[in-house]
Amino acid sequence: MTDNIDTSEIAKFSASAAHWWDTEGEFKTLHDINPLRLNYINKKAPLNGKTVVDIGCGGGILSESMAKLGAHVTGIDMSQAALNVAKLHQLESNVEMEYLLSTAEELASQRPAQYDVVTCLEMLEHVPDPISVIQACAKLVKPDGHVFFSTLNRNLKSYLFAIIGAEYILKLLPHSTHDFAKFIRPSELSEWSRQAGLSVKDMIGIHYNIFTKQFSLNDDVSVNYLVHLNKTC
Ligand code: SAH
Repeated sequence: MTDNIDTSEIAKFSASAAHWWDTEGEFKTLHDINPLRLNYINKKAPLNGKTVVDIGCGGGILSESMAKLGAHVTGIDMSQAALNVAKLHQLESNVEMEYLLSTAEELASQRPAQYDVVTCLEMLEHVPDPISVIQACAKLVKPDGHVFFSTLNRNLKSYLFAIIGAEYILKLLPHSTHDFAKFIRPSELSEWSRQAGLSVKDMIGIHYNIFTKQFSLNDDVSVNYLVHLNKTC
């Protein structure tokens, strides 16, 4: 199988890697939503002492925060530049973690059923074949483990908010961060997950209030959403 990688996407993330930990920079949105998603994950699957793999970890915003809660975290990404930044930041933060240059598919063939928790956030919309990544996540997780995905829904509202609003009007994200055609509806994510042996336990929206400029979690999954799944077999 050829690798499930979009090299232009990886190049884009690599080019911005130096700004990964700039809380007011290109990855500001990831910094802003991180406490919310970390708290959600930790409530559904208390992280202390758990083995966790973070797929498409980038510069390590989520990975590091999970390690700080006592998880044994492996972060994987296909951007060497992003991983270099993640490793440097890990030294500064003095947390013990493992970072690897790998695809989900590769790691799944090397370490099947080794993780209590698999996280794959804001990554599925950047790969050619998201189903293959979902299957790899299902393979990586232990039989009674937890999987978390987050991505962007595909509808008129998400187009207006995530592309026109976030990239052009509010400038929360750089231009061309997202390709609308790769956005994934919750029904598609649920079906692909079910076929991979994962069942949806819960789904929640990550909501941006343009007036208060604050993010919050609520039931509205029409733009960005986070899903908690369990392995079913
Ligand atoms: N999950 C992180 C970063 C999201 S940005 C967070 O939410 O904070 C998306 C990341 O996915 C980038 O770092 C990019 O390099 C990575 N990525 C894209 N395609 C990938 C692939 N096929 N395998 C592994 N990582 C990939």
